[in-house]
Amino acid sequence: MIRPVLIDTHAHLYEDVYAEDRADMILRMQSAGVAKAYLPNVDETTIEPLLNLCENYPEIFVPMMGLHPCSVKENWKASIAMIEKVLFSNPSRYAAIGEIGLDYYWDKSFIPMQQEAMILQAQWANELNLPVILHSRNSMDDIILLLKKKIKVTRTGIFHCFTGSLEQAQRIIDMGYYLGIGGVVTFKNAHLPEVLKAIGPEHLVLETDAPYLSPTPYRGKRNESSYITYVAAKLAEIFEIPFSKIAEITTQNAQKVFNQTVLTTE
Ligand SMILES: [Zn+2]
Repeated sequence: MIRPVLIDTHAHLYEDVYAEDRADMILRMQSAGVAKAYLPNVDETTIEPLLNLCENYPEIFVPMMGLHPCSVKENWKASIAMIEKVLFSNPSRYAAIGEIGLDYYWDKSFIPMQQEAMILQAQWANELNLPVILHSRNSMDDIILLLKKKIKVTRTGIFHCFTGSLEQAQRIIDMGYYLGIGGVVTFKNAHLPEVLKAIGPEHLVLETDAPYLSPTPYRGKRNESSYITYVAAKLAEIFEIPFSKIAEITTQNAQKVFNQTVLTTE
């Protein structure tokens, strides 16, 4: 039997929390059938660990580049200038611009700057013909508005960690974007399964957002890419189709987002 291949479209596996057992974590990921993980950048401090990890495991890890909205603070212009320099010095190295977007959960005082940073980076995506990875915590309607009114991203991309309503899911799909589904779908009392059941698996990709948002039964613990099997199993249950079918659909979707060539060329 051929084991289904899974793709983790969003994982911060370069973070320090894996310093002790990163090689073992990668072995667990491979034995779980997770063939690839796409690594989003956060800010200027994460560039080096991210690129090092991708260099050490070029077959498994693919870098993405961008400034996370939670890192848009007083000095964001300097941060984004550094990220721009790294990105444009070797643009073909990156599978997407990310993660970018708006985060209205923590500090609201930087919202205008977050919006400016998101628009600027979406323009890079168009310039380089790359998709975008969108972080949309408590801000999904504003992101949709920006993408409709201010900057249309030609290659579209992924609404990472989607947890919105059916209406929001439909608007996102209508714009040609995919929904990144992670551990939240396995949480008790989550409304997400109902929303997903209504829209079907055709616009979904899998993600962990590791080390955050571990699925049940690891909720609250450190997440890792091998746990994506719990997310896939939950989707199989929601749609009442085999696990292997979920793997096939979500892997195909991920390949569409990132473009097949990115998966095979170095
Ligand atoms: Zn993330």
